Amino acid sequence: MRKYFIMTFGCAMNQADSEKVNMILLQSGFMRSATIEQADLVIFNTCSVRQKGEDKVFGMIEEIKKINAENKKKGIAHEIKIGITGCMVRRTGLGEKYLTDYKRDRNKSKKINLLKDSSEIFNNDDKLFPRTKGFLDFTLRIEDIKFLPLMLTQIYGESIGNDYKFDDYLKSKQLRENPSSATIIIQTGCDNYCTFCIVPYTRGSENSRPIEEIVQEAKEAVKAGAKEITLVGQNVNSYGKQFVDKKHWNEEKSKWNDGLGKSPFRQLLEELDKIEGLDRIRFTSSNPHDMTQDILDAHFDLKSTCNYLHFALQSGNNKVLKKMNRRHKYEDFKKIVDYLRSRDPKFSISTDIIVGFSGETDEMFADTVKAFDECEFDFAYNARYSVRTGTIASKMFPDDITDRQKAERWHILNDKLLESILKRNQKMLGTIEEVLVSGQKDEYFFGRTRNFKEVYFTVPEGKEVKIGDLSKVKLTELDRYVIKGSLVE
Ligand code: SF4
Repeated sequence: MRKYFIMTFGCAMNQADSEKVNMILLQSGFMRSATIEQADLVIFNTCSVRQKGEDKVFGMIEEIKKINAENKKKGIAHEIKIGITGCMVRRTGLGEKYLTDYKRDRNKSKKINLLKDSSEIFNNDDKLFPRTKGFLDFTLRIEDIKFLPLMLTQIYGESIGNDYKFDDYLKSKQLRENPSSATIIIQTGCDNYCTFCIVPYTRGSENSRPIEEIVQEAKEAVKAGAKEITLVGQNVNSYGKQFVDKKHWNEEKSKWNDGLGKSPFRQLLEELDKIEGLDRIRFTSSNPHDMTQDILDAHFDLKSTCNYLHFALQSGNNKVLKKMNRRHKYEDFKKIVDYLRSRDPKFSISTDIIVGFSGETDEMFADTVKAFDECEFDFAYNARYSVRTGTIASKMFPDDITDRQKAERWHILNDKLLESILKRNQKMLGTIEEVLVSGQKDEYFFGRTRNFKEVYFTVPEGKEVKIGDLSKVKLTELDRYVIKGSLVE
């Protein structure tokens, strides 16, 4: 039996996508490999947010190349095949002819005999192929995941899986790594075109799954042991835009803000909240400009939504935000933070920040530092700006902040972040919180509170804890980014 290894980079969405790839490969007769060296097939599910992530993929491909060369030299008949999916893939490795026909008539395209000539399937013009000096076996847009068995059939020269069994990316099932905490993809794509971001080009425009389908998947996950569900998508709070009619989206948003009707995302949350046995609903990532009052209030109105929100600020300076084509101002973001914390002081907020974007002066950066002081983030993903080929920023704006300046700003923000985390976590000390246990390390069990604080706790002798338990823990000690405590019942 052939073995595979998936290397996942990036966000929760990519983690969930890898679970889909896992499911397809297992159903196609592959088995998991514990290491890259033992695998017959390695798939990189990539992230394009930073150059570093992309370089790492190419570095690892070089390593695999060496393993293969070594095996060949020793006469060992073991060659590792390599595929790339995720955000580094701008277009799929399927031939242009097929894609054109596919767009024109999806049903007709199924009749094309794709396997009669390999040149119809593999697109050797893809930019990724030359960078790996022809060593890459295939590229596949994650949205075209249903073609994976087809590609593998071509690569291995024998029938693998059922080509049309996995008929839709959003419907493809995931093989969940952690049954007590399930990730469900509800939406993919993005219509926002932030100038620094490649996602709208790689993932296409926004597309949401029907509510019934998501609720059904959530029920199955809960039946299989999930206590927590995380809804993921590029823009979860604009979930269902196509159900409303994209042209009238902004008018509809004003109504939901005024308490007239409910947004599709709020409706989805309400349906999920009815599922018996589901304790926690989380979602990521949200966009400030699509956040409506009914979604904010869902955090407090529904029993399973948690007191935690991740939404991306990117910069504390309005000129930078405008240049990034973000559609919110800092004041809009801050208003949301203030509202949530006024309803619940323990409400956790995390965000994404880019430092060193084109034209960011020291004064502009100082606004981001100020935002850290004012918003007291519970966590932030701070990134140094790096140009992504194909984005609007790569074509229009110079990358004019030196690496040194970017590094300095990044360190300043990370120090600010730790300060903020310690301040926020301090407020949790002495409280008893419910922790969803996700693992064990040395003498500690660990997991997250409802407000997404990472907690490590000890268990007194005679008491038992297992992964998936909701344990009551008294929080007693700060340890940089995490809080320590002990089990109370
Ligand atoms: S909202 Fe902006 S940063 Fe987020 S995926 Fe869309 S374009 Fe990228």
